[in-house]
Amino acid sequence: MGLRAGYHVYRTAQWKALRLEAKRRDDFKCTGCGARGRLEVHHKISVRQAPELSFDLGNVTCLCPTCHTKATNAERGIKPNPEREAWDQLLKGNNIARFY
Ligand SMILES: [Zn+2]
Repeated sequence: MGLRAGYHVYRTAQWKALRLEAKRRDDFKCTGCGARGRLEVHHKISVRQAPELSFDLGNVTCLCPTCHTKATNAERGIKPNPEREAWDQLLKGNNIARFY
């Protein structure tokens, strides 16, 4: 076994090129909430589930770190916590550093 499937995908020049292409296509905005700034390119169908779609532009989408975490949690079957999210939004809005 050794390396998990997909591990090396993120280290290829092809992935770097695809990431840039995806950001351009999505206008350098998060497709979840429209935020600009730091973006992560997310596989809609995970590399593990569909290695053949690893470099498919149709299978990737740009997400901000917040939306990316949500998407990843959803994949893992972790349900969103509305109270926690409301709290996060409040902290963000007030520019208060996270203290937990
Ligand atoms: Zn977002």
